[in-house]
Amino acid sequence: MSLIVQKYGGTSVADIERIRNVASRVIETKKSGYQTVVVVSAMGDSTDELIKMARELNPNPSSREMDMLISTGEQLSIAMLAIAIESKGFDVISLTGAQCGIKTDEIYSKAKIDEIDTRRIRQELEQDRIVIVAGFQGTTKTGDITTLGRGGSDTTAVALAVALEAEKCEIYTDVLGIYTTDPRLVKSASLLKSISYDEMLEMAKLGAGVMHPRSIELARKNNTKLVVRSAFDFNSNGTEIIGAKKMEKAQVRGVTIDENIVRISVPNVPDKPGIAFKLFSSLVDLNVHIDMIIQNLNHDGLNDISFTVPSEDLDHIMPAINAYVEEVGSSPARIKKEVSKLSIIGTGVTSDVKIASGLFGRFYDLGINIEMISTSEIKISCIIAQDKSQIALESVHEYFNL
Ligand code: ASP
Ligand code: MG
Repeated sequence: MSLIVQKYGGTSVADIERIRNVASRVIETKKSGYQTVVVVSAMGDSTDELIKMARELNPNPSSREMDMLISTGEQLSIAMLAIAIESKGFDVISLTGAQCGIKTDEIYSKAKIDEIDTRRIRQELEQDRIVIVAGFQGTTKTGDITTLGRGGSDTTAVALAVALEAEKCEIYTDVLGIYTTDPRLVKSASLLKSISYDEMLEMAKLGAGVMHPRSIELARKNNTKLVVRSAFDFNSNGTEIIGAKKMEKAQVRGVTIDENIVRISVPNVPDKPGIAFKLFSSLVDLNVHIDMIIQNLNHDGLNDISFTVPSEDLDHIMPAINAYVEEVGSSPARIKKEVSKLSIIGTGVTSDVKIASGLFGRFYDLGINIEMISTSEIKISCIIAQDKSQIALESVHEYFNL
């Protein structure tokens, strides 16, 4: 019998009515002949609310206790969903991460799954039960509860799909699927029928907050069939995430904007071996996500090094940057907060120079200065002034006929 893993996000189970709706969908899936495993997130914003409550007691709580706390959100929603399914006369069981054998490392609040012992889930499925699993959580070897990082239920779902060799993994959410850009920002955004893992991964990392990037990496590695679709409109087929082979070549598939970054420049560092190494090694232990590193060749044996970091990491890394400035004797770091990163994504975009020139041409037409550029095989990102990001996004989206 085919096995399916479905995941329902927080908005899909935000209240009683919506839980009933999900219950019907799950029952339909079961009736259509699947062994059905369902992963759920915590109801609505309840994870945020738990975090807020804890911070009232202690602004800096330990991550072990935070995991103990926020994992309860999912325990609540799995029981609610199981109760809803039970009430319609179907055999169902809810399981926490621990009960269904999800073993993680010991990094509280961003744990990684080491392995899943699927025996319990298999037993339940063999009893012809629907299995409801708490997303976002697991346990360490010693049995302590961990969580996988915000949005981690997607990763639970894909990891289960891999471990159970599911036919497919469906991610149910509050939008119809993956769009060419954020439909809240650009009205003409259109729904993509399919997208490659690589493109989807870039979209997710670049701020299209639909899926947890780790879940896409995992699906790509295992070639898991993944579908993102609406929990409210079951008639829409959503977006299929597939291997790149089936995709057409060199085409822009989406545009993203990330306003949540800052640009840091360290001007006039000495032009000699070890200087970049010193800067970035001083940031290693701070666990910060560095992006768009650029070194300009300057004059008189001096260079500028610039890079971007997420806005929320700025305060946290400034002491290390200042210490570096002091140590190498460069000019003081320059910080620019009012910047956005606009990216176009699509397999092979850098292989066709018309695409880059078209993008830069839009900025030129709008009189927008490009402050930094970085590329990979499947994306071109530009740093521009934040107050120009909306108009740039609309113009670029229109230009590439998305
Ligand atoms: N409830 C968790 C969060 O809000 C996990 C998830 O929703 O995937 O981050
Ligand atoms: Mg989510």
